[in-house]
Amino acid sequence: MEKILDVLALGRVRFHELSMRGRVVLSQLPLNVTMLFICLLVALTDAREFDDPGFVTAQACALALLAIAAALPWDRIPYGWFLAVPILDFVPIGILRYSTESTLSGLGILGVFPIMWLAGSGYRPRIMVPIGGVAALFMVWVPQFLTGRATPHALASDLLVPFMLLAIGLGSSVMTLSAMAQQARVEELLERTENRERLLNTVLDTVDVGVLVLDDDGKSAYMNAKQRQLYVASLPNGVPTTRESELLIYRDGSDQPVPPEQRPLGRVIAGETIEHEVYQLGHGPDARTVSISGRQFSGASGNNAGTVFASTDVTEVVAAVHARDKFLGAMSHEFRTPLTNILGYAELLQDDTSLSPAAKSDLQIMMRNARHLNHMVDDILAASLTGDDAASIRLPLDLTELVRQTSDSFGPEATNRDITLDLAADTALPILGDRTGLVRILNNLVSNALKYSPAGTTVTLTAREEGEWAVCEVTDEGLGIAHEDMGRLFTRFQRSDAALRSGIPGTGLGLALAKEVAEQHGGELECTSEVGVGSVFTLRLPLRTAKQRMTLS
Ligand code: ADP
Repeated sequence: MEKILDVLALGRVRFHELSMRGRVVLSQLPLNVTMLFICLLVALTDAREFDDPGFVTAQACALALLAIAAALPWDRIPYGWFLAVPILDFVPIGILRYSTESTLSGLGILGVFPIMWLAGSGYRPRIMVPIGGVAALFMVWVPQFLTGRATPHALASDLLVPFMLLAIGLGSSVMTLSAMAQQARVEELLERTENRERLLNTVLDTVDVGVLVLDDDGKSAYMNAKQRQLYVASLPNGVPTTRESELLIYRDGSDQPVPPEQRPLGRVIAGETIEHEVYQLGHGPDARTVSISGRQFSGASGNNAGTVFASTDVTEVVAAVHARDKFLGAMSHEFRTPLTNILGYAELLQDDTSLSPAAKSDLQIMMRNARHLNHMVDDILAASLTGDDAASIRLPLDLTELVRQTSDSFGPEATNRDITLDLAADTALPILGDRTGLVRILNNLVSNALKYSPAGTTVTLTAREEGEWAVCEVTDEGLGIAHEDMGRLFTRFQRSDAALRSGIPGTGLGLALAKEVAEQHGGELECTSEVGVGSVFTLRLPLRTAKQRMTLS
């Protein structure tokens, strides 16, 4: 009852939320209320009507129907039977209309209530609405027949009310069906959306990638199971916190927490996009190393709707890389001592005058191969020195001078290979850097250019200034690099098929290390190449600023 009153008062409860019985009572109520109102009108205008048995019967019938509506357990009765009530409603309306004909005319319009109910229920409207129309016809014709006034003229003049009620019924039926179709579509969409959300949640909780979504206010809107694990790993002493600045986030290999302004969440919320940045979360045995990517996403209207982060747990991968580098370092150390011995004794033997020319030539081959082996060991050793250590000591240097020295040292090898080595380096290019690392880059670029170029071609070394950059370019007219090899050119141990096929020796380490060293110096190493035409490797390093020059010189 309370709920019915709430619906009537247009409160929070909606009609479709009521029980079946509540809905039937509420659908019947407007007719009863109107009939009570008619009682009031009659009391005010012509109280004699109360003596009319027809009037009293109509009122009693209407109340009886209301009582039936309230008493029957409609939930347990087959659906649709409740429509007997509006069909029966035409009986009291018919009696009332007939009995008050002389005092209150036009009461047939009360048939609007049952016909609207029949149409609005949406239950078999094609049958129910015409039944309502027929009931309305009976409502007006039956009294004519019972009182013997059923002349063709009288019957025809009474047709308007049932026709009008039928039209109202059909109109509301059309609207109801359309609303019901729309509701069914909305419900279907809702169900599909819920299914999709459930699927998405299951997928996100199954994958091994941590996913975090923040809303446009930077508050956590979604976190999958893996992300919760990573979050727990980064808590200081396991105490929950929502502030990113309090989480234990380190750069891989550093003991100092990342300063708040450099932390990934804050940066991405401020509009930055980050990709595969490696951080350590927490410390001790439970620490995890993660590769984090994050970006903002926009809503339908194009405004910022929030931020998404994906964190891949790379703890095991990083541990494996460290183990590999340790192994490579230990292995190359072990190789170096016997190799140095071989080279030393071979050089001593070379001076031995008792050796025949053939033996000397064999010795030369042995020494060449031993030197090559030595270079490879050097590369492997350098590769095992990961981290920023290599570039930690920065000294004022002149890139032009380094380029010139490299050109000089490769002069003899270029002549041996019948390759012209050109140099275009005039102006000084002051930089800050680690000499060993930078010489290693230049040596690698020039030795590659010579190694992968046929005789009769030219290798050009250029050093020039370009805005804030000191630039060194190594250009060759050699093999060139195929498009499919370009993507992994700077990946460790990667060698092109062309290099492998041509039998040119190498480890595939030099360029990867060169790029690492260039980036440790705040610079970059790039390559453009065309198969059969040649390659251009460009090294860019930040020029030393005037301020740095003053403090260091
Ligand atoms: P390595 O030369 O020891 O194999 P690098 O890392 O120096 O290793 O080079 C990686 C690969 O890139 C080489 O194996 C080769 O296929 C290709 N490459 C490098 N420089 C050149 C070049 N100047 N011309 C053609 N190919 C090159």
